[in-house]
Amino acid sequence: MANALSQLSAFASIARPEEKLAAYTALGIGGRAEVLAEPRDIAELAGLLRACREKNIPIRVLGSGANVLVSDEGLRGVVVRLSAPSFCRIQTKGNTVRAGCGASLAHLIAQSARSGLAGLESLVGIPGTVGGALKHNISDRNVEIGHYVHRIDVIDTAGQTQTRPRDELRFSFGSCNLDDPVLVAADFELEPDRADALLKRMRKSWIQRKATQPFSFQSAVRVFKNPAGLSAAALVEQAGLVGTKVGGAQVNDRDANSLVVEPDTAARDILRLIELVRAKVQDRFHLELDLEISVW
Ligand SMILES: Cc1cc2nc3c(=O)[nH]c(=O)nc-3n(C[C@H](O)[C@H](O)[C@H](O)COP(=O)(O)OP(=O)(O)OC[C@H]3O[C@@H](n4cnc5c(N)ncnc54)[C@H](O)[C@@H]3O)c2cc1C
Repeated sequence: MANALSQLSAFASIARPEEKLAAYTALGIGGRAEVLAEPRDIAELAGLLRACREKNIPIRVLGSGANVLVSDEGLRGVVVRLSAPSFCRIQTKGNTVRAGCGASLAHLIAQSARSGLAGLESLVGIPGTVGGALKHNISDRNVEIGHYVHRIDVIDTAGQTQTRPRDELRFSFGSCNLDDPVLVAADFELEPDRADALLKRMRKSWIQRKATQPFSFQSAVRVFKNPAGLSAAALVEQAGLVGTKVGGAQVNDRDANSLVVEPDTAARDILRLIELVRAKVQDRFHLELDLEISVW
């Protein structure tokens, strides 16, 4: 079978073969992508998607890799990153902020606050891009990002650009209903507020979040979805699993729904730890924890 790169020769200038994905994920581990592609604009992205579809080449989108565990063996097909400037722009018009899905969530929140627009500030400190944040409908106790979304521009499975208006969007805990392969940009409708009040709330959220996140020398990943009405972290904690270790991966003692991972840990050790935690929670509470993290 021809390899993906030889079938995508028209995209040679934006595609790198056998690229190590570790450098692009928060955990910094995992194998290689057969092809890593960084299109320069939406037309090139759409063309790449159409070519992959015609040639039956699997395609995945990587944001900042905060929620992805890449297997040690790596993966076939194409991994796309929206790293080009045209996917990372943030513009404000009135109460609307338009953000490219390759932009960082931190940039979106900072730009909104600078424009005196409130709504997203308590999500400060959550790692990821705008695309990843929408896909997972990231949230804290008070706010979910989906609440503020007015529309999302996507590329659909046929490689066509489409706009999904608010009334087509359904956000639930940890996910949204869009199964289009790529989210490209989104409009957020925010609320005007005083910059000093906004800044104060941002600071408070930042301090609270940092208290549960790993220290700067550690990398970490959130693992499970919260089952309806329950906290995955509380279940893991009550099952006595805090501190449990497999290889260089350990259940975080500051937030039991995350693992802290030492450099050079094998992805298979992380997967073994995840399965061990799941099995113990199942034994103890007769409850199956679903994965929030995407395993590639
Ligand atoms: C320490 C830590 C703390 C966290 N705290 C919170 C929290 O408080 N609340 C919360 O809700 N989450 C939290 N998370 C989860 C995480 O931050 C989010 O899931 C994040 O939004 C993932 O974004 P990303 O850009 O890194 O996506 P990635 O991890 O790169 O990708 C995640 C998924 O989204 C898909 N995806 C990404 N971009 C696109 C796109 N443009 N189009 C289509 N699909 C796309 C990928 O294919 C993949 O399936 C935390 C994570 C960590 C590591």
